[in-house]
Amino acid sequence: MSTLLESYTAGRWYAAPDEGRPLLDASTGEVVATISSTGLDLGAMVAYAREVGGPALRSLTFHERAGILKALAKHLGAGKDELYRLSACAGATERDAMVDVDGGIGTPFSYASKGTRELPNDTIVLDGRPEPLGKGGTFVGQHVFTSRPGVAVQINAFNFPAWGMLEKLAPAFLAGLPTIVKPASPTAYVAEALVRRVIESGLLPDGTLQLVAGSAGTLLDELGPQDSVAFTGSAHTANVLRAHPSVATGGVRLGVEADSLNCSILGPDVTADDPELDLFVKGVVTEMTVKAGQKCTAIRRVLVPAGMADTVVDAIAARLARVTVGDPRDAGVRMGPLASLAQRDEVRKAVEALRSSAEIVYGDPDRVEGVDGDAERGAFMAPVLLRARDGATEPHDVEPFGPVSTVLTYDGLDDAIALAARGRGSLVGSLVTHDPAVARTLTLGLTPWHGRILVLDRDDAAESTGHGSPLPVLVHGGPGRAGGGEELGGIRSVLHHMQRTAVQASPDMLTAITGRWTPGSDRREASVHPFRKSLADLRVGDTIASEPRTVTREDIDAFAALTGDTFYAHTDEEAAAANPLFGGIVAHGYLLVSLAAGLFVDPDPGPVLANFGVDNLRFLTPVKADDAIAVTLTVKEITPRTTADYGEVRWDAQVTNRHSEPVATYDVLTLVAKTWDA
Ligand code: NAP
Repeated sequence: MSTLLESYTAGRWYAAPDEGRPLLDASTGEVVATISSTGLDLGAMVAYAREVGGPALRSLTFHERAGILKALAKHLGAGKDELYRLSACAGATERDAMVDVDGGIGTPFSYASKGTRELPNDTIVLDGRPEPLGKGGTFVGQHVFTSRPGVAVQINAFNFPAWGMLEKLAPAFLAGLPTIVKPASPTAYVAEALVRRVIESGLLPDGTLQLVAGSAGTLLDELGPQDSVAFTGSAHTANVLRAHPSVATGGVRLGVEADSLNCSILGPDVTADDPELDLFVKGVVTEMTVKAGQKCTAIRRVLVPAGMADTVVDAIAARLARVTVGDPRDAGVRMGPLASLAQRDEVRKAVEALRSSAEIVYGDPDRVEGVDGDAERGAFMAPVLLRARDGATEPHDVEPFGPVSTVLTYDGLDDAIALAARGRGSLVGSLVTHDPAVARTLTLGLTPWHGRILVLDRDDAAESTGHGSPLPVLVHGGPGRAGGGEELGGIRSVLHHMQRTAVQASPDMLTAITGRWTPGSDRREASVHPFRKSLADLRVGDTIASEPRTVTREDIDAFAALTGDTFYAHTDEEAAAANPLFGGIVAHGYLLVSLAAGLFVDPDPGPVLANFGVDNLRFLTPVKADDAIAVTLTVKEITPRTTADYGEVRWDAQVTNRHSEPVATYDVLTLVAKTWDA
């Protein structure tokens, strides 16, 4: 008896009352599982996400959410066998499964680390600095990102059931949005097993992850203006979703990662003797064969200078000849089948369409020689390389979602760029060149049409992550045909899930609203030096204003002698007098910052553990000998670390001269103990 995949809704597993549709093993045709979402109460699911999951998630700070993601990634990493076993049913070799499963688990790891390092231990994010809006300083603007009280629905493609889910879940989770995942049916058994592992971990707050196993039904009807849909799949389905009333007029945000005719370009500088030729050929073959070419980022168009076409075709064909196709569970098989027989039919149709303007130069779409498996029931297909005739149009139009690429020739860099652009927008393009001028011209020509560009040569090849691998820290998505969406890219995708609002108010109000000190708002000069206060006692706005200190010529000379910074503006009267900005000897900026530290520190051991840097340092007014400086230091932001007994304190530092003019401004960054017994 086969297993019926279950949905996870409102805190429990749900089995549809009917038998469901069978999902077949890609190699053997045997039933792996059945799937049905009949009777699933999608409205209740959305309500549960909004009313239970969302509030629980948003009560946590970014750092707490990041901590959960890290624990989750560790938990998933400790038990991957079942996911690998099921991935093989979908046709994935071990290498393919690694890309999907391990690549997927890497995403919450990466977001956990980015979330801790780049987001505050808070629930809102400030975007940029306060903007003064009035001359008197009483009216200021500040952009803030806040979480939306909605739900993030993800609709995924069949080719990356694990990665697709985790790369969308991690940023949404950090952003405070609960997720409902709807995996593609053909490989939903992998996604279902993954959701089971997540739920069993007990790490996620209830309601922050739910699963629709089976058709999405009326899910979109349930969504409103605080909700979003992140879709990965075909351009056809994307257009159906774009036209859905909830999206077209109901305010639901839709992000689309659709198909894409990605290209790889061999630079005109590369000869048959250069290592770049081999890198180029390897890249094409890898992208044709990993996941049997069922990758949205795979290279579909191979653009080469006309004079190199024969060499490139021969080299690709020679490598493809070494690729063994078969059941991925068999040792020695390098490329598995397509996900289903239906998918193979689609690819064969696409090859047929391509043949109207291209010749097959390697492989037969209808036959696989020496397949290690049942060639009738398994969706095996040999890699197919085509060579386009001059003026070919189909390669720029038809996406064969399988192990298929077409070689096209170009005549000059402008032609290469024009051909690449005929894909009407792609996820990724790569160029293989060792010539910096070629790299610049091609990169700048390609960027308007691509979400990511890989420039590959002998220098970066060893560390290169390759053409087809989206990375958590880099944006994934592309313009035009690729869907126009943008995912990943580190914290960018977290912020995409949040609402940016410009808040206009007085500095005091902004400090109260944001929890961070806004210049111009009240400062509190306490009787106790703020360096004597632990994190528990410090408050935003706590201030110390120093006494003035005269900067003497001896100070400047001594600093020059000590540091070796004898730049003429600090040492040579005559030359400094001729300097149009200084008109005489001035103090080193770093001397002023050092003197300021001497003015504000409290020297005895105390809760301040270390100074770990300064941000935004600007020298505004030159200081000459015998002028006096003073410093005002104010607590701007307090960020307790969740996993340490100290936190970070950001101080606003203002150094002024005798006339109260600003001499230097910067943020001082310190680590301060959470508690301190004097
Ligand atoms: P698909 O047929 O468009 O299906 C994608 C998802 O949409 C599936 O979960 C599917 O569910 C769901 N779906 C279909 N009709 C729907 C509707 N009316 N309402 C709501 N959901 C609906 O694409 P696919 O065959 O799975 O994937 C292959 C395509 O995806 C290729 O073109 C490839 O280039 C593209 N892709 C793009 C990326 C990217 O990042 N840009 C990544 C991977 C794949 P069911 O399976 O239950 O029908």
